[in-house]
Amino acid sequence: MRFSRALSFGVLVLLMALAPACRSGNDPSVGGRPEPGVALALATERARSIHDVRYDLAFDIPARPSEPIAGRAIVRFSLDDRSHPVVLDFEPGRDALTSVSVRGKPVGFDVVNGHIVIGKDVLDHGDNSLEIVFRAGDASLNRNPDFLYGLFVPARAHLAFPCFDQPDLKARYTLELTVPSAWQAVANGAELKRERLGDRVRIQYAETKPIPTYLFTFATGRFDVESAERNGRMFHMFHRETDRKKVERNREAIFDLHARAIAWLEDYTRIPYPFGKFDFVLIPSFQFGGMEHSGAIYYNASSIMLDESATENQRLNRASAIAHETAHMWFGDLVTMRWFNDVWMKEVFANFMAAKIVNPSFPAVNHELRFLVSNYPAAYGVDRTGGTHPIRQPLENLNAAGNMYGAIIYSKAPIVMRQLERMLGPARFQEGMRAYLQHFQYGNATWLDLVKVLDDLSDRDIAGWSKAWVEEGGRPSIHTEWDGGGQLAFTQSDSQSGRALHWTQQMDVLVGTAAGTQSLPVALEGPRADVKDFTRIARPTFVLPTGGGIAYGDFTLDDASRAYLLRHVPELKDPVARGAAWVTLWEELLDRRVRPLDLVELGLRALPMEDTEQNVQLMLGSIDAAFWHFMTEPARLALAPRLEQACRAGWTRASSSSLKSVYFRAFRSMVRTTEGTALLQRVWHRDEKIPGLTLAEPDEASMALELAVRRVADAAAIMEEQRRRFQNPDRQARFEFVVPALAADRSTREAWFERLNDVKNRRREPWALEGLGYLNHPLHAAESERYIRPALDLLIEIQRTGDIFFPKNWMDAVLAGHSSRAAADEVKRFLDEKPDYPVRLRRIILQSADDLFRAAEIVDSR
Ligand SMILES: [Zn+2]
Repeated sequence: MRFSRALSFGVLVLLMALAPACRSGNDPSVGGRPEPGVALALATERARSIHDVRYDLAFDIPARPSEPIAGRAIVRFSLDDRSHPVVLDFEPGRDALTSVSVRGKPVGFDVVNGHIVIGKDVLDHGDNSLEIVFRAGDASLNRNPDFLYGLFVPARAHLAFPCFDQPDLKARYTLELTVPSAWQAVANGAELKRERLGDRVRIQYAETKPIPTYLFTFATGRFDVESAERNGRMFHMFHRETDRKKVERNREAIFDLHARAIAWLEDYTRIPYPFGKFDFVLIPSFQFGGMEHSGAIYYNASSIMLDESATENQRLNRASAIAHETAHMWFGDLVTMRWFNDVWMKEVFANFMAAKIVNPSFPAVNHELRFLVSNYPAAYGVDRTGGTHPIRQPLENLNAAGNMYGAIIYSKAPIVMRQLERMLGPARFQEGMRAYLQHFQYGNATWLDLVKVLDDLSDRDIAGWSKAWVEEGGRPSIHTEWDGGGQLAFTQSDSQSGRALHWTQQMDVLVGTAAGTQSLPVALEGPRADVKDFTRIARPTFVLPTGGGIAYGDFTLDDASRAYLLRHVPELKDPVARGAAWVTLWEELLDRRVRPLDLVELGLRALPMEDTEQNVQLMLGSIDAAFWHFMTEPARLALAPRLEQACRAGWTRASSSSLKSVYFRAFRSMVRTTEGTALLQRVWHRDEKIPGLTLAEPDEASMALELAVRRVADAAAIMEEQRRRFQNPDRQARFEFVVPALAADRSTREAWFERLNDVKNRRREPWALEGLGYLNHPLHAAESERYIRPALDLLIEIQRTGDIFFPKNWMDAVLAGHSSRAAADEVKRFLDEKPDYPVRLRRIILQSADDLFRAAEIVDSR
């Protein structure tokens, strides 16, 4: 699965029972009353007593999403222990059950808290077969007017059909789908045969390899299918793109990227692709960046099918998304975590492998820089906050598994894994991976299983290293001790009280001298590392512990180095050093050791000299954040002419359309002057073109919204015209949804926000988030402070009914535009009033509010 910052559309659901599950009796797992969700105790008991699970599933799917889906499941399993009833998970409940039979005879059963409880007396020691006829639940089936797709991660299969919904009861699935004959369909297994039944078609799929419920899926509807052969393997791509030219422009690259990823992984792991056929589905407004259903990967269509104006970063992101999901076929699908507390493992491996895979496809790209830019800021974004958490967290019930995901898993864990590879050496690390995959293939393993494999291969203390980096949250505070002379040391401390952790890490320290820069390897193991023979370096000008792009922590530079870097970053020759300096100075800004304006001024000087797109993007992103979050309105207006000029000069100077696009997007986001806004209007009206830049439908829609949020005089006419311009109905519907959130008229905005109280209006989560972002735009922050409290009040409900990233994205969308003390106080008041608020949601609020809390200090302190 891949985290997507450009989110998506959701569904109702989950009993993400926030209330601590009430445990009835002494044995919560197997008594008459299993608790809601899938409790660890229940799962542990089932994994002990149930084996060799097979599902034979049939779904009869009508065209209209309002009509019910009839389902039939034959669940076969071997039972070791008949002392307890067998508990299946099935959320739709008794009303959705027609019958449960054993050997053709109906049997009695109980329905308790989303479970079917089958009495032990009707079951056999050894092989059992239950036949269940039911109406499928819609909650995880993402039913749209002419397509649907199952999305069962982390434990949502049982919202649709009865099953043992836990990752360590892997099962083989056979599937039969009956769908409208004009529809396409895809599932994990290969299509075996189809049979026409009037205006319907029945399709049978081959039995799968053993896979967990969260990797089982099917999708059906109006899709186009593209096929291609690579290295003797057929690939099928299901999509709904209406622009034929766009498909043609993208398809070869998409197939190539998959084929290359497979070849690389087969070579690295020495295990052939484990799941037979390989298909993928591009879904409009998909909830995630991607989801690794074995043999049937899903992607967010817009991140795979790119516009002509795609930036270099978007092309890299696409390659990474494809490599990430493909890597999951081995890491996650072939070997699966035992429980969702180790979900980070599959994510970190997929990211880690993706980085290795993507490199050869983009020889012109600086991959060290890419790793730095895509991971460090995001990881710090959570790890610096009061809402941080360990990579590995306890998880009592799968209905809270959504809380496991986020930047700590997606961005910190890859950094940590790279440290591990450096500690072991790449060859030994690869050897460890091969041994681990071989040993646990088609089964499950925990992080500790892997630590043991690696510990056996190494004389380093892997378990001790794992404790600080994996089993605890937060980052070391690292200070440079340098007086400008020949003595240099680094100290580390733990800012979290009562813990006194030490993080072992290798740092590639960069030292500036009159003659250039030198890299200095420093191993930080205890509380202090003195750098020996630093005296041999003649007249150092600065020390940057993060300069090699490796070190992780909250760094306090010495005063001389900070002052030097604020003047001289653009002169550093190595783009990684420039990127690392920028990231470090940004953290110093957040800790109030660098003034926002000083960083923006540095950026304005650096941009004309910066030739690396990723650094340009990094700098413009920080400038944008400093501009909107950490500056007063008068300071913004004073700065705007120069910022806009810098963007315009940037796109004029840029040699690639992707770099032009980076500058244009920054301009679009920050434009404040009358002249700049007029330029944006002329470009949107197609009266002026930016040479070398093609603006596609989504670009025009974004420009229209940016103009509307600035309340330009002809905003209404622009909205009208934009409606007429849409070719793509999905994009148009999204636009229509978002527009009222930008209305100049307060009651319209208020009504739009009110509608979000109804889960139906939140189902398309990216739409809701986009609207919320504009509603709380910094330009209207004062008038939208009123929405902060109700948005907070809704958070529990958001978590209960939304997809896993929705709570965090919801809070981000609500708070990102705010920087006032009043807004910060509103959030703090909410947290103070609710000492018993669910801890994971409290963390999410603390994460999302971190910039706001800092902004209230930074902006007000001027
Ligand atoms: Zn993933």
